[in-house]
Amino acid sequence: MKAIQIRATGGPEVLELAELPIPQPGAGQVLLRVEAIGVNFIEAYFRKGQYKSTLPLTPGSEAAGIVEEIGPSVSGFAIGDAVASTSVIGSYAEYALVPAAQLVKVPDGLSPEKAAAAMLQGMTAHYLAHSTWPLKQGETALIHAGAGGTGLLLTQMAVRIGARVITTVSTPEKAELSREAGASDVILYTEQDFAAETKRLTGGRGVDVVYDSVGKTTFEGSLSCLRPRGLLALFGGSSGAVPPVDPIQLSSKGSLFLTRPTLWHYISTREELEWRAGEVLKWVASGELKLRMEHVYALEDAPQAHADLESRKTTGKILLEP
Ligand code: NDP
Repeated sequence: MKAIQIRATGGPEVLELAELPIPQPGAGQVLLRVEAIGVNFIEAYFRKGQYKSTLPLTPGSEAAGIVEEIGPSVSGFAIGDAVASTSVIGSYAEYALVPAAQLVKVPDGLSPEKAAAAMLQGMTAHYLAHSTWPLKQGETALIHAGAGGTGLLLTQMAVRIGARVITTVSTPEKAELSREAGASDVILYTEQDFAAETKRLTGGRGVDVVYDSVGKTTFEGSLSCLRPRGLLALFGGSSGAVPPVDPIQLSSKGSLFLTRPTLWHYISTREELEWRAGEVLKWVASGELKLRMEHVYALEDAPQAHADLESRKTTGKILLEP
């Protein structure tokens, strides 16, 4: 089968096309015939060696496709089922293994592209808006990178709850997309002081919650635009890692809360996984949640997909097709 392999860490060029044997499913595993692959920032962290893994590595954890084979001790799935997961073991490939416990069925009529595009960023937006800070009608959220994959979905979910959404983006084109997703105010954080602007837009009060996936360049400002006892959910570091923090800052800026959540801890039980994936896929299938998927690359073009993601050229989801 065709698969992408990383043999040494480095730039996008280390994502090399290789010919590998089709893996055999072990106990509790399913072999997936991959139809669409979700590209996520975390793969760039592994590619660069920022997150550690043994090499050679086939990257990727998100995909949708068809159950091709079933290993021992698997129940609830049959050969031919349309399925998706965010826990695929090397999804940048034509075939990949998945623990059945982390697999969900795709509703009838939903394309594999949409299923792959919705799973990871959709469930992330879901846990941020419904669990990390369960947004309420009338609250105000600041969402950084509002035209990004997670940003567009989180904005729609927050608006669906009845919250007011302020976003940050780097270009006027991205601002337009963020407004279309439901943001009432969009700040060009490459030109404006977003903390001051957020304070102005909230009449000096500050927002109830900041969802920050940008990290290094936004962290300080994010703390400064929260209302007292508000929460900063720092869930990524697209601009780099945040340096160590002195907790006294949380006190002086208004008895703030800070969390660094990860999807894995919000889908660790079967019940929670089925709840989040079920709602996200249902909303996508009904058209209530809109996906932006204009960046679709062939599997062998994975280096270009990574280069585009890291140079802020993309909006919405990036997919690879085997
Ligand atoms: P995005 O589609 O949001 O892409 C990243 C965006 O970040 C860019 O488009 C850009 O938007 C913005 N950005 C700001 N500064 C930089 C920079 N220096 N370099 C690159 N991009 C920059 O990606 P995702 O939605 O897939 O992921 C966003 C972040 O969230 C990632 O860090 C990812 O690892 C993390 N994440 C965390 C999860 C969790 O559970 N903790 C789950 C999913 C994702 P603009 O041009 O508008 O500034």
